[in-house]
Amino acid sequence: MACVTYSYDAPVSQTLFDRAAVVTPGGVNSPVRAFRAVGGTPRFMVSGTGPYLTDADGREYVDLVCSWGPMILGHSHPEVIEAVQAAVARGTSFGTPGEGEVALAEEIVDRIAPVEQVRLVSSGTEATMSAIRLARGFTGRAKVIKFAGCYHGHVDALLAAAGSGVATFGLPDTPGVTGAQAGDTIVLPYNDLDAVRHAFARFPGEIACVITEASPGNMGVVPPLPGFNAGLKSLCAESGALYISDEVMTGFRVSKSGWYGIDGVEPDLMTFGKVMGGGFPAAAFGGRADVMAHLAPFGPVYQAGTLSGNPVATAAGLAQLRLLDDAAYERVDAVSAELRGLVTEALAKEGVTHRLQTAGNMFSVFFTDEDVTDYDKAKAQQAYRFTAFFHAMLAQGVYLPPSAFESWFVSTAHDSAAVERIAAALPTAARAAAEASA
Ligand code: PLP
Repeated sequence: MACVTYSYDAPVSQTLFDRAAVVTPGGVNSPVRAFRAVGGTPRFMVSGTGPYLTDADGREYVDLVCSWGPMILGHSHPEVIEAVQAAVARGTSFGTPGEGEVALAEEIVDRIAPVEQVRLVSSGTEATMSAIRLARGFTGRAKVIKFAGCYHGHVDALLAAAGSGVATFGLPDTPGVTGAQAGDTIVLPYNDLDAVRHAFARFPGEIACVITEASPGNMGVVPPLPGFNAGLKSLCAESGALYISDEVMTGFRVSKSGWYGIDGVEPDLMTFGKVMGGGFPAAAFGGRADVMAHLAPFGPVYQAGTLSGNPVATAAGLAQLRLLDDAAYERVDAVSAELRGLVTEALAKEGVTHRLQTAGNMFSVFFTDEDVTDYDKAKAQQAYRFTAFFHAMLAQGVYLPPSAFESWFVSTAHDSAAVERIAAALPTAARAAAEASA
């Protein structure tokens, strides 16, 4: 039996992790960073330039996480840094309206036709939470349909992900979420329009909205089957519910206008984050003006934020979005395609059964022999092969998401030198995946 040896040669990171564990639960401020799914020492990063990150031990990595999506221009892009420095020099927060917020909102509205109005917030979680509240306030209904395997941030009602195959009332997935908070959440299998039809038939006039990742990346990359999003839209329209497309991950990443730019299905509400903040905490929700009109201050649905539309965050986001022209997306798409080819080639050479799934320039590898169309199929993969693959890449200076259930991200800064480094690491990692055992 082959055994996986993890590279623990990160003494400074380990010391920081030990220190962190004393004052922070699990030593991290977001669970996936703790490497629990793959084991080993999380790398504490100290700097990033272009496609590279440098850790506290002075080791450099080609970064295929890109801060979980936002860093689509690579790290420390000079024009983004310049915009941030200029904004900081003017002051960091005013608690008043400012022109930067208007400009960022205009940029979003210009890019995405179904978004007539947008409200800025500070995280993707806040965006989805606010969109759900607005949908409930607008429709006067309580129930929300979400899909197993879709992540919409740590919103209480959306942490219910129980059940598969049939319509299931959400059971809280985590202590601290009450039955009351999750009880109006209906969790359905992804890509199953019949289950959605069934739920609408079972609860006529009770469903406020369907929320779905525009193209899921949080169970690995599992794109919608042809017609799935359009089917959701028409089922919602037929029954007076709102169709909410969560583009926190795909928005401004997979095209100039996100997944909407690829499938053209018009949501009633949309949520954004990640890329639009340029590496700062900025997010948004927006959509139909008649729905958005229900928000305070003019409408009855309350929603607010001390740092919403923060001038530094909006300057970073705006600078990044303005650099993201057609050529930038062509570049990211091309790097993604090249890497996908290299990964598949290396795994195939070692006889490793896998599926490489793609949504625009997002992709991930499933160690399985069937196409992955929902969460159950995603979970059925041989995740232990990913663990071996991950550590072999890490040991060779390639930083992958530390979980088999996450998308990989590339940037315009991933040049041929970065791609060559990844290519050089792949054969060893593919061999490790081949030799791994559960
Ligand atoms: N929605 C989607 C699709 C996401 O991928 C995420 C985060 O990964 C969120 C919402 C939550 O965003 P945040 O982590 O900024 O709260």
